Amino acid sequence: MSNVLTARDLEEIIAKGGDPNAAAKDAVLTPSARDTLRDYANAQRKAVRAGSGENAAPTAPTGPLNSKSPKAELEAFFNSPYAHSLKEQICEMGHRLWKRAYVDGNGGNMAIRVGDDIAICTPTLVSKGSLKPSDMCLVDFEGNQLLGTKKRTSEILMHLQMMKRQPKAVATCHCHPPYATAFAVANIAPPTCMLPEYEVFCSVGVAPYRTPGSPDMGKLVAELTDQYNTILMANHGVVTWSHNNIEEAYWRMEIIEAYCRTIVVAGQLGKPINTFSGPQMKELLNIKQSLGFVDPRFGMKECELCDSDEWRPGASCAIPPKPEATVGYDEEAEKTVQAITDQILSQMK
Ligand SMILES: [Zn+2]
Repeated sequence: MSNVLTARDLEEIIAKGGDPNAAAKDAVLTPSARDTLRDYANAQRKAVRAGSGENAAPTAPTGPLNSKSPKAELEAFFNSPYAHSLKEQICEMGHRLWKRAYVDGNGGNMAIRVGDDIAICTPTLVSKGSLKPSDMCLVDFEGNQLLGTKKRTSEILMHLQMMKRQPKAVATCHCHPPYATAFAVANIAPPTCMLPEYEVFCSVGVAPYRTPGSPDMGKLVAELTDQYNTILMANHGVVTWSHNNIEEAYWRMEIIEAYCRTIVVAGQLGKPINTFSGPQMKELLNIKQSLGFVDPRFGMKECELCDSDEWRPGASCAIPPKPEATVGYDEEAEKTVQAITDQILSQMK
């Protein structure tokens, strides 16, 4: 038996932050209620178009969903203006990845957590340059596809394992940007302490090679998400995560790629590369911490941050030796310094 909903009923639901579409699904609507529903959809679409940031996106229409939610609720969510705005964001990031040549063929994939154990993700075998919102899939955290007409990406397990391991991860982005991937092929994290943007936004770890899409690959990457938000996958590419939104996960790609490219060029200039001092680096890490990003270097001493060519865990401080330890050793030098000082003083008189 279906109930009748008026415009006023729907307005009340909207005012309370509920989803009028979900309420209207099995109800009989009055003509004015139908107008209210249409106005709501238009307003939501306008909000999405008005800005690109997360603030402009419509809010989630229902409470937290999960893989056990009724199919009708999942469908209502998946077809809601809110879900549509997330799909559009993924498409926009896909287009940027393709234009910047960070992906090749059908490479690269992205996911956004949208409930306790569900995520919207990109499909397999579609170029990121031609992604459409209607291509997107809804999956549970085991990788089972719940909704969407195209088949989900074959690398989804890695994204889901990252989200399972790192509860803060709401969005993940994977691609193959050439300079950063070159470091991944060489199996080295880029040296640190050179550019502020990179130090604030990226914390870079390296995961060993495993077959793309295999549970083992996902496990090795996921283990690094406690301390790193940007992971070089050896002989493969890069994957990033964000606790804010998919655009920030994408930004990390631009930042690590620009950084890797810059240090490759800087290395060819024939001049020694300057790095930050410990206190300078500490200041950047303070900013990073205030932004809620992860980094294994929080809490380390200033002298541990940039004294080695390449930051490594447990690097010891290069504190200058104490004067007492060198007194006997430098007796001759002391005498010479004293003689020169006396000479200067006598000349000044
Ligand atoms: Zn890949």
